Amino acid sequence: MDSLLNSDRPPVFCPGCSHDRSVHTLDRALKEMGLKGSDVVIVSDIGCSGLFDTFFKTHAFHGLHGRALTYAGGIKLARPHLKVIVTMGDGGLGIGGAHFLAACRRNLDLSLLVLNNFNFGMTGGQFSCTTPEQASVASSFLNVLEKPFDVCDAAVCAGAPFVARSSVYRKDLPELLAAAITFEGFAVVDLWGGCPARYLKKNPLSPKEIESAIEKLPPYQGVVSTNRRREYSSHYREEAAKKTAGVDWHGIEKTFEPTVNERREVVFLGSAGQRVITGGTLLGRAAISAGMNVTQKNDYHITVMRGPSVTEVIVSPQAITYTGVGKPDVIIALSKEGVQKRWGLFERMTKRGRIILAAGVEIPTTDAQVEEVAFKAGGIKKKERALAALYLMARDRDPITPEMLEEALQQSFQGKRLEEARLVLEKAATVLTH
Ligand code: SF4
Repeated sequence: MDSLLNSDRPPVFCPGCSHDRSVHTLDRALKEMGLKGSDVVIVSDIGCSGLFDTFFKTHAFHGLHGRALTYAGGIKLARPHLKVIVTMGDGGLGIGGAHFLAACRRNLDLSLLVLNNFNFGMTGGQFSCTTPEQASVASSFLNVLEKPFDVCDAAVCAGAPFVARSSVYRKDLPELLAAAITFEGFAVVDLWGGCPARYLKKNPLSPKEIESAIEKLPPYQGVVSTNRRREYSSHYREEAAKKTAGVDWHGIEKTFEPTVNERREVVFLGSAGQRVITGGTLLGRAAISAGMNVTQKNDYHITVMRGPSVTEVIVSPQAITYTGVGKPDVIIALSKEGVQKRWGLFERMTKRGRIILAAGVEIPTTDAQVEEVAFKAGGIKKKERALAALYLMARDRDPITPEMLEEALQQSFQGKRLEEARLVLEKAATVLTH
């Protein structure tokens, strides 16, 4: 198999940089594995290690500092046939530490090569998360104050099933890299090397000294049997395939003719638990069944079952180029706190506007026509009122019809929930008469 090195862009690092060796070692590993460039994607981080992808004729992705593993994970999930190799320095590893731990826990089939030279080389030799406490670096004494991070210890603790530590000078490194790339699961290789331009200037360290420093540490040589388990992406696909599909929002076909020939702005003002957002969505789906364009914007507190809930729905036979509400055509006012949330909307309404107002809810002065509705007296529960209000709009065929509303219910609910929704409409038809 041919080399996958990019002949148009030979590796260029400072003289003596161990990254140069890593590039050629990785190429040998890929060559020995018989991989084609189209089989591989190299995802690089920022820093000198971030140049790696440009030296190979493979797919490539280069993103933000510390985030390479996140992109790599997405690529693996979307294109499981690719061998995804991530190159990161110790600097990027520290910056994206949580992503590293997450990758170990998740066990996607990625190979992470940590090009560990104990400093931020590209930016001038500042300390990184792996800088030894006794090292002398450009960021003065700061490394003295922190305990260095052991990449392999952390990887094993977090669940990585393949963990190896090696110097870049090791003769059988191509075989080790091939084993990591072949391994089905998350493989971490902590590759120790030297940055002669920065770190080695103040901390002379020969390849032999690097090797003997590694020998003094617990050996990490590949498969961690206690962490072996199923690879995430294949497991994910298997589990996802067992799930039944929900309602297909995009599958609503045009069945009816629009009842309006211009844009209508409808605002629901209620409280959490009143199914205000669901009401807006039903209105939207009903309008889509008549081929109309729809936007919906929701506004609610982060709290559950507490606080105001607002949804703004625009339906229009024409394209909706502005999604803000100017002068609402309809306001469905279901609760005091919902009304207070959009108090100013009422005075913007014209005489043509319609307000469906739950009896007992106070609203500001308005030019619009107010239709007070005795939901409570009619036995319509709070959580049913948004849907009951839709019944009133459908009854008056503006901007939806009863048939469109029934279509929206079928698109949204199944089984018992669908029956309950239909019962609400029946109840509304009985008790909410003019
Ligand atoms: S700064 Fe250090 S890591 Fe970067 S290319 Fe130069 S020697 Fe290599």
